[in-house]
Amino acid sequence: MRNYTTQMDAARKGIVTPEIEAVAKKEHMTSEALMKLVAEGKVAICANRNHTCLNPEGVGSMLRTKINVNLGVSRDCKDYDIEMQKVMSAVNLGAEAIMDLSSHGNTQPFRRKLTSECPAMIGTVPVYDSVIHYQRDLATLTARDFIDVIRMHAEDGVDFVTLHCGITRKTIEQIKKHKRKMNIVSRGGSLVFAWMSMTGEENPFYEYYDEILDICEEYDVTVSLGDACRPGCLADATDVCQIEELVRLGELTKRAWDHNVQVMVEGPGHVPLDQVAANMKVQQSICMGAPFYVLGPIVTDIAPGYDHITSAIGGAVAAMNGAAFLCYVTPAEHLALPNVEDVKQGIIASKIAAHAADIAKGVPGARDIDDKMAEARQKLDWDAQYACALDPETAKAIRDSRSPEEDHSDTCSMCGKFCAVRSMNKALAGEYIDIL
Ligand code: SF4
Repeated sequence: MRNYTTQMDAARKGIVTPEIEAVAKKEHMTSEALMKLVAEGKVAICANRNHTCLNPEGVGSMLRTKINVNLGVSRDCKDYDIEMQKVMSAVNLGAEAIMDLSSHGNTQPFRRKLTSECPAMIGTVPVYDSVIHYQRDLATLTARDFIDVIRMHAEDGVDFVTLHCGITRKTIEQIKKHKRKMNIVSRGGSLVFAWMSMTGEENPFYEYYDEILDICEEYDVTVSLGDACRPGCLADATDVCQIEELVRLGELTKRAWDHNVQVMVEGPGHVPLDQVAANMKVQQSICMGAPFYVLGPIVTDIAPGYDHITSAIGGAVAAMNGAAFLCYVTPAEHLALPNVEDVKQGIIASKIAAHAADIAKGVPGARDIDDKMAEARQKLDWDAQYACALDPETAKAIRDSRSPEEDHSDTCSMCGKFCAVRSMNKALAGEYIDIL
């Protein structure tokens, strides 16, 4: 019989949960050290008590940077099994979290499939699902309808929910007054904004926040405070709307922690590279060290088709400066629903950003694999190199498709017999170096 509600409640009572123990082992730290961070809210272990097949992970700036992959059934891709295959291949490529953004049909069977088969953390955005679930127009939904969907997701075993609690009726005036270039680009944020505009009522996720926290506490659902006003272009970055919402997210973080509910705070968006670090520091200060979950940041607006790269650049700098969790961005961002190859490219780009940041942050053990790769390269041991690679399949396919013309299988076709590694190995071994 468990004598705690959430991981935070347990940590505050000095109880080392199986999840705290498992995460501490993965992060090369003691359970006691991790427990303190969970108690303070600096690490969130998103672990709904109904997600029984979960392989728990911790999210916090001092831990390995985690990545999230957005998937889900949609009108254009409604086969549960195909979507589930994408989920499992994302997990195999290293995604620690899957956000189910299903937007078609009855979403509950797929959500339940995820929480009964997928070991990664599962997140959802209940406001999207509300329209689908009730099959009614947005304006006809009530605050009660939204809260009931949150409860349903909690019962289904969802580990974290994005809630756009930070915009209020005041935001409507601000958006009109400050004339942003891209207004609101958060899908959930725009729905909440539209609902408030059409009904004249206050944001239900803000107004009934305490009731929502009771649900989250009961099932141990982590609240991921959505950033409805995240900038959608460089010109809107770090503006009044974004910062004003962030201040409210800081207040809401504190209120969640008072309920023993774990929190992550979501962040930008499109941000010029020179503003990324400052954004991380401001969030850490205003939200008292709560884990920061960023979408990108995308550092230039002009690369549709390559936004996995623009976001990996921003993501690496963000994670190096305090972001704990990166939401992947695919080459299809701003253009279309990502296909299987886009998903893979997005995951690899995010993994590179996360790993580069972990090395820079000095996360224990983070660089070990790079050192192994260097040793394999020095020995021209290609199988050992593939074993260290983030994407061994692609690495091997490239080498195999362009092997050296002559049979000197120890080198590659980049330099052939001019291979610096080969020349140095032979020279240092006192061997004759044949070039021609
Ligand atoms: S041939 Fe050139 S690129 Fe290839 S392993 Fe040798 S030094 Fe590296």
